[in-house]
Amino acid sequence: MPIRTRIAPSPTGDPHVGTAYMALFNQAFANSQGGQFILRIEDTDRARSSAAAEEAIFQALRWAGIEWHEGPDIGGGYGPYRQSERLEIYRRHADELIGKGAAFHCFCSAERLAEMRRQQQANGDTPRYDGRCQSLALADVRARIERGEPHVIRLATPEDGVCRFADGLRGSIEIPWRQVDKQVLVKSDGFPTYHLAVVVDDHLMEISHVLRGEEWISSTPKHRLLYDAFGWPMPAHFHLPLLRNPDGSKLSKRKNPTGLDYYRRAGYLPEALLNYLALMGWSMPDERELFSVAELAAHFDVQRIATRGPVFDLAKLDWMNGQYIRALSTDEFMHRITAWALNRDNLAPLAPLVQARTERLSDVLGHVDYLLGDRRGLSDADFEHKTLSSADCRRILHYAGQRLDELPSWQRDALYGALKSLADAMGVKMRDFLAPLFVAISGRAVSLPLFDSMAYLGRDLVRARLRDALTALGGISKKEAKRLERDYRQLAH
Ligand code: GLU
Repeated sequence: MPIRTRIAPSPTGDPHVGTAYMALFNQAFANSQGGQFILRIEDTDRARSSAAAEEAIFQALRWAGIEWHEGPDIGGGYGPYRQSERLEIYRRHADELIGKGAAFHCFCSAERLAEMRRQQQANGDTPRYDGRCQSLALADVRARIERGEPHVIRLATPEDGVCRFADGLRGSIEIPWRQVDKQVLVKSDGFPTYHLAVVVDDHLMEISHVLRGEEWISSTPKHRLLYDAFGWPMPAHFHLPLLRNPDGSKLSKRKNPTGLDYYRRAGYLPEALLNYLALMGWSMPDERELFSVAELAAHFDVQRIATRGPVFDLAKLDWMNGQYIRALSTDEFMHRITAWALNRDNLAPLAPLVQARTERLSDVLGHVDYLLGDRRGLSDADFEHKTLSSADCRRILHYAGQRLDELPSWQRDALYGALKSLADAMGVKMRDFLAPLFVAISGRAVSLPLFDSMAYLGRDLVRARLRDALTALGGISKKEAKRLERDYRQLAH
């Protein structure tokens, strides 16, 4: 049987380091077996998906050195590879499920579902659909659809017994059917949910091995039901451990940089990043730590994938990146520096700002050091201010971070608008409000204009700098974070 693996990222938000991690293992496995590795785009969430985010995934994965054999951008024999272009296929399959009694139409209103969930929670039960529409008479269902009543399609699940399935890394897994929700398969807008689309696509694209994150283990019984209902063999499933923050929680942007763009901009070599990611979930038979993607594929054995959640350790990544940088020839080193940031395209947006402030060409580096490299380390003394206390600064930085995370796009004017309205809502004069942000971003009180600097640095680097600044100010305790969270929600948006 030909080996075919895939990743299926959703084009929502910035390309995530976890996507490169999953891609790396799927690619290594396919390449180790002479198989094919496929990139599929899961853009069924219409409100959150965007073409720009999809393009950013292609670029970020390519930068990292991931190469796919089939995908929306390069085509292949199993397309289309974008789920939004496969709606007719899902519709046909949803009809087949209805015909077989494996799925049913549901007309329950959002209010009824919310009330049901509230009651189940009050009784200490796991919220799940109670099955009311499952017993509707066919004629009734037809009439309501004809009347144009909004509805979804849900998966019919057994009430009793246990679902058993094999996980290639973890052995046999058992989940009682009573814990499995009658999942929505087709939303009221006619788009499929992940659960229907993933099964249909993995089957039609002849995926032989699914290597995906462990957060999908609890969904696998739903997928098992669907494979059985269609009469399809289920591909082998391997649930890989998720990357974790040092405190054991799932890697999150609040605690660690998670965007691939951050690692590119901060000056990591892609081959060092991939080596590091490989080491997080796998070990070489001889335990050596430095190895290339090709060496990984040459020695790859799924059974060596770890099942314990690896902790993302930036210090270790720095060490590894240093090893890679020092192993480059001088020529290659110079080439990497130019390709990284010191090139015309990358400097062009800064040129007019710098030129207007330059008397001697030697002034230039002093203007852009914090934009091309890092800014100097900060201490709480840097934030001293005539009217703002350290607690005020922490509040401003924390809220600003929050507000910026809510911004869908990252442009100078949008950044300004978002922070101006935040300052107004907080009742802080804009000049005072910006003071701690200036220090957090540039490491000094005067720099190139703040909003141009933030636009240039990008979301990931700005988020990292705000987080570092908060650490320099003593950090935010869990209790303070809770209080800030509550107060923030009360501010007018
Ligand atoms: N869109 C899902 C994710 O990115 C895909 C999960 C899967 O690989 O099945 O987590």
